Order: sequence, then structure tokens, then C-alpha cells
Amino acid sequence: MSRQFDVAIIGGGVIGSAVARELSRYKLSICVLEKELDVCNGVSGHNTGLLHSGILHKAGTLRTECCKEGNAEFERVAEELDVPFRRCGKFIVAFGEEEKKRLVSFYHRGIENEIPGITMLTGEELREKEPNAKGDHAIYIPSAGILCPFTYTIALAENAAMNGVTYLFGSEVTGLAYKEKNYEIRTDQGILMARWIVNCAGLYAYKFSAMLGFGEYKPDRVKGEYLILDKHVGSELSRPIYPTPNEYGAFDVHVTPTIDGNILVGPTIENIGSGIDYDATEGMIRHLGEKGKELFSYTKREYYIRNYAGVFPSLKNPESDEELDFQIQTKESIPCAVNVVGINSPGLTSALPIARRVAEKIKEREKPAVNRAYDPKRKGIVRFGAQSEEGKRRLIEEDADYGEIYCRCECVTKAEIKQAMHNILGVSTVSGIKYRTRATMGRCQGGYCETRIASLLQEELGKDKKEIVLNKKDAYMFTGEVKPYEEA
Ligand SMILES: Cc1cc2nc3c(=O)[nH]c(=O)nc-3n(C[C@H](O)[C@H](O)[C@H](O)COP(=O)(O)OP(=O)(O)OC[C@H]3O[C@@H](n4cnc5c(N)ncnc54)[C@H](O)[C@@H]3O)c2cc1C
Repeated sequence: MSRQFDVAIIGGGVIGSAVARELSRYKLSICVLEKELDVCNGVSGHNTGLLHSGILHKAGTLRTECCKEGNAEFERVAEELDVPFRRCGKFIVAFGEEEKKRLVSFYHRGIENEIPGITMLTGEELREKEPNAKGDHAIYIPSAGILCPFTYTIALAENAAMNGVTYLFGSEVTGLAYKEKNYEIRTDQGILMARWIVNCAGLYAYKFSAMLGFGEYKPDRVKGEYLILDKHVGSELSRPIYPTPNEYGAFDVHVTPTIDGNILVGPTIENIGSGIDYDATEGMIRHLGEKGKELFSYTKREYYIRNYAGVFPSLKNPESDEELDFQIQTKESIPCAVNVVGINSPGLTSALPIARRVAEKIKEREKPAVNRAYDPKRKGIVRFGAQSEEGKRRLIEEDADYGEIYCRCECVTKAEIKQAMHNILGVSTVSGIKYRTRATMGRCQGGYCETRIASLLQEELGKDKKEIVLNKKDAYMFTGEVKPYEEA
């Protein structure tokens, strides 16, 4: 028998999870259909983690409106969801007089967009604030901030689940049909029924847009590669440094401290058309090294610990060929569907404002009763490494597993890993543990702890070692034996 929901959300990235949380304020049965085994495997797990200010796009666009709203409310959101966040500000720097002209016109965009506290600085004033930053001139934007995109997406999803939302992982939506006031949703795990559909499928949202009848958008994707620098140099930079945007308004490689103490160099900008490609390439690593050094001199090979890539789900207007603004659409002729497409940067910053607009669209057609049990608060895992000596002692007294270090680089204990596994969303992958605890994210990149985490997954979830996956359905950690196993 198929399952029936009031609302089915396709896609459990930061947008789908923010929508799920927002809708859980109402008495609605809600499911999130996610093709991957966790919430951070799409665009939401491959970005910079910057809380943007709203200067990037023109005044009057939905992007700018949602970004400014998301930026202004983030202290409250971070507190509710127990998400570490620092409103550190950021710099955009220029070299020479030519770039200064573009920087000044960008500064005027900031004034027009009413970005609070934005100031022009000389090179000397820049270095007074950020001694290791390079540049002859700069704009300072105090409202920008940094957060962990994994923690934020997970926190939204966990809070939605705590408020009654059902997450169905490993459920790829393959078809939709509207029948007798319900959508019949075909997935690779079977059929579900829902009165409402919300399309939050990120890089694949254009497909459901066409299926639902909202229009055929052409994906025109941009790939961005990054380098991650070791925490050894993390203390050398306290705020992101961006170069002046080029004549088309695009930013080349920038340098961003992460909330956990690393430095990100990137992303690069590479148009990849309609493809999706997460490969990290040698040429781009070289480019990142050269460009990163122009802004921050500690961009040196000895500090590189990892590279990764993200893909922007940018969409073009089929008529004008221009990049589309964020789209949150309903249509009189299409029953009970909200189409959320074109959500590229600053989608992380804008997730909750987008979610509120989705909820408003649903409330234009029906008046769902308020869920009086809704609780906006969620508590994260208590981090052993962040405690005082006294705090650490107390944690070990309460739970001896806090006394066993699994990840040495990031100081993550067995207790934290177990809490991540038994989390309300049900975590079954090694990456799921990584995103929730930072185990494997340090200098050795899992050399020490990855197999120990895999063993604990087997033990705690009662799985065979051949069932343990890194991050996806078929990404098995162990596919055979190097030498026959002998019982001691
Ligand atoms: C390189 C880069 C840097 C960025 N930096 C920033 C930044 O610093 N600050 C900021 O605010 N924004 C930033 N962004 C933008 C931000 O990351 C995105 O706007 C946001 O993550 C989009 O979230 P999403 O939920 O729409 O997409 P996703 O996270 O991709 O979620 C969509 C989900 O839908 C699922 N899905 C797709 N098809 C199906 C299907 N058929 N069935 C079931 N599930 C399906 C996918 O698996 C995926 O999990 C950046 C983006 C990139 C690429």
C-alpha cells in the first residue's frame, strides 16, 4: 500500500530541509524524499559556508531580498539550532587604480543595497584590521559571517524531524502524476501519495520543473574547485578576503576562514554547461595556489590538506539566455505544487527566507492549523575538544566513551561518533559521521580513524563490513579481502 502525506518535498539539501522545518510549524504530514543517504551530499555539502551580506546581486532581486533577510536573522537562527557562527565581516580588495574603479562601483552597489556598515579602506587600514591580507584598497563588509554548511543543513533537518517530518533517504523520485487531488510520486523505493509537492531538488530541480509544467529551464552549471588549508595557518586570517569582481561581476578565487579553524581557498569558476563534475584537477590546484597567494601569503603547498569541488545549479531564461533570479513559483493551472528553482549562491544564507516564502505560497491556497507542539530549538553534539579540562573530566564521568579518542587530528571521541550514529535522522555512512563530528576532517584525512568508524558502524548498526559505505549507496568501503582473515 502506498503512503499518504500532505506535503512531499523533493530534495533534502539546505533548501528542502529549511522548507521542511518551516512547514513543520503547521499540522501537516510532511515527508522529504532524498535520493542520497544523507542531507549534505548535494550542493549544500560543497560550498564556502559564508553568510553573505546581500551585496553580490542587484537591489530588487529575490536573491538580494532573501539574502539580506537571512543575514539579519542569523544570530537567532544559530542560537535556536545550536549552530556555531561568527559574524566576522569580510573584505573585497583591489590592486592598482583600474581595479579600484570597479571596487568603488561595487561599493556603490553596497550602498544601494543598504548593506549595513560598509566602508572603503586604504591598504594600510586593511592591514590594521587583517595583517596578512594583501591589497591596495578594500571594502569592509561587517555583516558577513561564517558557518559550517554541514552543521547548518543537518540542524535544519534534525529540527524538522523532531517536529514530525519524515525523511526518506535513498528514495529517488523518478516520476510524478496528478490523480484525484493527489500527486502519485514514483520513487525507486515504491509509490507515495501527497496533496502538495515542493520541488527543492537543487541541481536536478529543472527536471521536476518540466515534469510539473512550470517550464523547461536550461541548466548552465558552473563548477568551483577549492583547496583546504591546515588549521596550522587558521589563526593567520580572521576574515574572508575576496578579490574585486571581474567586469561581468564574477569573483575569482577568494580565501575564507572556516568556523572550525581551517582556511578555504576557492572556488575557481569554470563553466561546465549541463554536466555535473566534482573532480579536483591538477591544473586548478595550481591556479588556486597562485591566486590564493595573491590575497593571502600562507597559501603554500605544505598547508594543503584536501581539495574538493562544488557545482552551482545556475539556470538560464530560455528566452533571454540571462541567468535567472531565485524562482519560487506556483501556477493557477498547476494544482498544489511549489517550484523552487535557480537556487545558487547565496542559497545557504537565504534558505529560511526561501522556506517562509514557500510556506506563504501554500497558505495562499489553504489554511493549515498551527502545530502547537512545534519547537524551533535543537541541540547539537557536545564537542569534547571544545571543553575546558574540567568540562572534559565531567563528560568522561558521565559517559566513559568520551574518554576514548577516535579522531586524533580533530579530537573526536567515541561518544560523539555514537551520538552521530543514533541521531534522529539515522546516520548510516562514514561521511554522515564526518559531517556531524568532524572525524576524518583533520590533517591525516581519516588515515587514523576512518576504519575505526567503519567498525563502530558495523557494531552499533548491526551491519556486515561489506555493507558499510563511504557516502553513497554503492560506495562500499570494503569490497574484498587483501589476505584471508584468520580467527586469533
Ligand atoms: C561552490 C559553491 C559555493 C557556494 N558558497 C555559498 C556560500 O558561501 N554562501 C551561500 O549562501 N551559498 C553558497 N552557495 C550556494 C548554496 O550552497 C546553494 O544555494 C544551496 O546549497 C542549494 O541548496 P539546495 O537544497 O537547493 O541544493 P542541494 O543541496 O543540492 O539539495 C538538493 C537535493 O535534492 C536531491 N535530489 C535531486 N534529485 C532528486 C530526486 N530525483 N529524488 C530525490 N532527491 C533528489 C539531491 O540529492 C540533493 O540532496 C555556494 C554554492 C556553490 C556550488
